[in-house]
Amino acid sequence: MRFFGTSGIRAVFNQDLINLAFRVGLAVGKNYKNIVVATDTRTSGDVMKHAALSGLLAAGAGCRDAGVAPTPTLAYTTRHFDAGVMITASHNPPEYNGIKLLNPDGSSFTTLQQEQIEAEISSDLPDPARWEKIQRSRLYEGAIRKHIDFIKTRFPNGLKLRVVVDAGGGAASEITPLMFQEIGAVVVPLNCIPDGFFTRGIEPTAENLKGLCEKVKETGADLGIAHDGDADRMMAVDDRGRFISGDKLLAIFARALGINDLVTTLDASMVIEEMGAKVRRTRIGDTAVSEELRNGGDFGGETSGSWIFPEISLCPDGIYAAARLAAIAGQQKVSELVDSLPSYPLLRGSAAGDGVDMSRLESRLLALEPLSVSHTDGIKLDFKEGWLLVRPSGTEPKIRITAEAKTEAGAAQIYNNCKQAIRESTVMEGKGD
Ligand code: MG
Repeated sequence: MRFFGTSGIRAVFNQDLINLAFRVGLAVGKNYKNIVVATDTRTSGDVMKHAALSGLLAAGAGCRDAGVAPTPTLAYTTRHFDAGVMITASHNPPEYNGIKLLNPDGSSFTTLQQEQIEAEISSDLPDPARWEKIQRSRLYEGAIRKHIDFIKTRFPNGLKLRVVVDAGGGAASEITPLMFQEIGAVVVPLNCIPDGFFTRGIEPTAENLKGLCEKVKETGADLGIAHDGDADRMMAVDDRGRFISGDKLLAIFARALGINDLVTTLDASMVIEEMGAKVRRTRIGDTAVSEELRNGGDFGGETSGSWIFPEISLCPDGIYAAARLAAIAGQQKVSELVDSLPSYPLLRGSAAGDGVDMSRLESRLLALEPLSVSHTDGIKLDFKEGWLLVRPSGTEPKIRITAEAKTEAGAAQIYNNCKQAIRESTVMEGKGD
């Protein structure tokens, strides 16, 4: 049975999830002896944390409880431990909860580490440690303070800006406003009551951040910042109250920070190759970007809002990313930066995946005569005028299609060619072809 998705365990909170938290604690505690635990702001956070702590302690591990903190804050803290256990369901709705497991460098557990934990939680419950080996859990004070203090060392001269911070009621409700105040910004808090009910859709999408756009306009702010539930993500709104897409943010970071060696996912816009950095592309998901950064690199990004700066940790850090974006905004209006970037039409959609013969689809796509083909994640084809990414969905019987080109007509043509190829590769039951 597979418990871990690409970003850990996530499910609607219920008895099974409590039991799973205990078992994960037991398995992690058997393999790692010095653990730090934190939660986001969900109402079920304490229940899940105590279940996990119970398992960890029963296994004989030493545990510190860092309280409510963002995932990147826990990741930064984990440098002093063997592993970090984060109780969060990230950007899922408030009734969900889950677990992310972190390494001392801030990266998520690798597939291999996850498989080891999965094997143990799938087997019979192991015996707890002998009574004389069991330790007590202790509080870990100051995780948020230490995270802010590190960020402050990077901005010694302070920032003179007005920033609206929309934490969505998630784990950054305290840290991001405080961090901005301490580096000199005037902060307008929005949705910063950490009660676990999330006052807007918690994924930082354009649709969920209309309130932030309005607030930036209303207050004449220089920048709007938004996070998801555990604040590993950061998205932003410019000084004209416009949501900035993830592709634009990636390009802004790459250009303004003078990045030389950058890692991003296959589905990011080809604009990034024009920003002057060497670009390495990975499969979809921020964990893939984080894993690739273990081989070196200055910066990694995933356009859903995950920004990784190896100088702090290999965990996407929405708080540090917010500070770095604010520093850029202090040099030049963000709206000017946004408008100065090239922008290409990018189409995202899907087709029914039932009955699609993938090898037939691949030969149909190859007949379109691409310049190159990659199998890093699904099939990616580069054409003279743009590119196409075709991936079976991991959660639904669908095939996801992404196409980008320098013109609307070019993108539409690539997209429609792909739809046609999928139709021609669909084997109808009983038709016998
Ligand atoms: Mg998250």
